[in-house]
This record gives sequence, C-alpha cells and structure tokens, in this order.
Amino acid sequence: MTEASKRVPLSTPAASAAAQLGCYSKQVGPCVRACGGLTARYGTNARPVCPACRYEEAAAGAAQQRR
Ligand SMILES: [Zn+2]
Repeated sequence: MTEASKRVPLSTPAASAAAQLGCYSKQVGPCVRACGGLTARYGTNARPVCPACRYEEAAAGAAQQRR
C-alpha cells in the first residue's frame, strides 16, 4: 500500500483529515462511493472520490489494459 492508497476513516477529525488530504478542514466530506473514507469533497479543488478509491480505480484500469 502506498501513501496515496490509504483511506482516511470517517472518524478522523476534520483538521487531521485535511492535513492528510492536503485541503482545508471545511472541504472534508465523505467519499461519494460510500467507501467509509473521507475526501476533499467541497470547494474549488473538490475531489468527490477519495484518493483510495481513485487509486483502486487506476489500479483496476491498469490491470484491464494488461490483458
Ligand atoms: Zn472512497
């Protein structure tokens, strides 16, 4: 598991989650995939899908391309 694939639990305090996600605490919200992780959900640089889900999708996409 790389740093980028780590899920930030919903129980993480917003300030701590923001530090891990590289955003402001007011931008923190649950991932739209309902994976149980937090993401930079709101604001101008919003990423509705959390880093862990995006990493998994990228890995799945790469696996499909290898066939
Ligand atoms: Zn997610």
